[in-house]
Amino acid sequence: MTYPTQPTASHFINGAYVEDTSGTPIDVVYPATGEVIATVYAATPAIVDQAIASAKTAQVAWAKMTGTERGRILRRAADIMRERNHDLSVLETFDTGKPYQETSVVDATSGADALEYFGGMAATLTGEHIQLGEDWVYTRREPLGLCVGIGAWNYPTQIACWKGAPALACGNAIVFKPSETTPLCALKVAEILHEAGLPAGLYNVVQGMGEVGGALVSDPRVDKVSLTGSVPTGRKVYAAAAAGIKHVTMELGGKSPMIVFEDADIENAVSGAILGNFYSSGQVCSNGTRVFVHEDIKEAFLARLSARLAGAVIGDPMQVETSFGPMVSERQMNIVLDYIAKGQAEGARLVTGGTRLDRDGFYLQPTVFADVTDDMTIAREEIFGPVMAVLDFTDEDDVLARANDTEFGLAAGVFTRDLARAHRVASGFEAGTCYINTYNDAPVEAPFGGSKASGVGRENSKAAIEHYSQLKSVYVRMGDLEAPF
Ligand code: NDP
Repeated sequence: MTYPTQPTASHFINGAYVEDTSGTPIDVVYPATGEVIATVYAATPAIVDQAIASAKTAQVAWAKMTGTERGRILRRAADIMRERNHDLSVLETFDTGKPYQETSVVDATSGADALEYFGGMAATLTGEHIQLGEDWVYTRREPLGLCVGIGAWNYPTQIACWKGAPALACGNAIVFKPSETTPLCALKVAEILHEAGLPAGLYNVVQGMGEVGGALVSDPRVDKVSLTGSVPTGRKVYAAAAAGIKHVTMELGGKSPMIVFEDADIENAVSGAILGNFYSSGQVCSNGTRVFVHEDIKEAFLARLSARLAGAVIGDPMQVETSFGPMVSERQMNIVLDYIAKGQAEGARLVTGGTRLDRDGFYLQPTVFADVTDDMTIAREEIFGPVMAVLDFTDEDDVLARANDTEFGLAAGVFTRDLARAHRVASGFEAGTCYINTYNDAPVEAPFGGSKASGVGRENSKAAIEHYSQLKSVYVRMGDLEAPF
């Protein structure tokens, strides 16, 4: 088998690839076959220090450039990413196992969207003028300084850009640590940014496990931490950041509800349930994994869902017709298999799927459970795999209360033809990102993020600027200054 172009070394620091084989080796496994396709080395304390020091130095000059100059570089990087979409998509597929059918339209493209959007916004960032009689205050929108990004393994290119683009647009430097499971893609993002003219030191990538992330978060030179990961990791990282009074963005997990009312277009609702449970083999944070279906249409919904799932093309992720690939790792596959066993043991009805495929790689079948009740483990915990729980309901108020009865609050969806009900339910959802008659769209123009335990802050959109910059107020007195003595 031919593998995509490998990054030349483990880390990218101060504008160049850097290798240090004294760190712990991390094998990169192609999830479709289980073969090791690359090895990188975890950052040693010296590598972490080098990355932070170079970022600190580079940030000073970067912040002095105009927004127009900074934005031009980001937009150039977006263009390069789009030109190299094929190669980047192949790398993303090898890193994650997601089918090329997905990666070629989602990953580098959404990363490029973020670079283009925040590149365009960089020149528009301003403070304001506040008149106070003769005196006045003006505000300066200033960068935070050095940001640390820590990524999950499901969207390695996108996460590297969703954090890097707004950070750089606002005049910050960033040190990014990808998940140890998918270390390759962020290196390519760094390479492209520098090729587009980014001065050395502003976007650094260091590899490693949780302890490298921990070292970055607790370093006093770091001003902000943006994590995409699970709630348990979020609690640790948030606490470590709090000790240093650092800014945070937390993009964490979910167990999001999707409500399908009796008047919904069933084909559209089934499409939403498929997109919100089986895209990327179910490894999407905002997935609507608790699908509440009105009793009157439940059997019709399940029948169409099963028929449509039979059309999934499961196989080699590099074949363009493949629409469902492997899990990212053996470990994640086994976690999901445990949840499937719990679903069966606790009495849920297995409608389809439920087993590992008899082939190389970490393949599970798309799995649907019906007759799921609110207290079952598969209805309460984030599974992060292709497992849909279908629950019954009859009453709107009751289903909304059940939908909100969770510690998570990342996303939620409603399918109905009743316009007033759609907006009423959306307004009642306790979630950061809601959908009406669709699911899982995440355009860069719209804020994305969670409420409750699912997160703090927002990525994308104008809202992200608030999380990568700070305001300084400057009071200007025009007349004499009086004092009491
Ligand atoms: P983890 O929480 O296991 O890891 C996330 C990242 O944090 C990894 O890079 C990990 O390193 C690192 N890390 C782990 N421990 C620490 C620590 N103590 N200090 C600093 N960094 C640490 O998540 P997964 O990678 O398993 O990703 C899946 C999770 O991510 C799911 O819960 C999913 O919902 C969530 N997610 C949220 C999204 C959102 O936007 N809200 C989007 C995508 C995923 P390493 O793994 O290398 O040890």
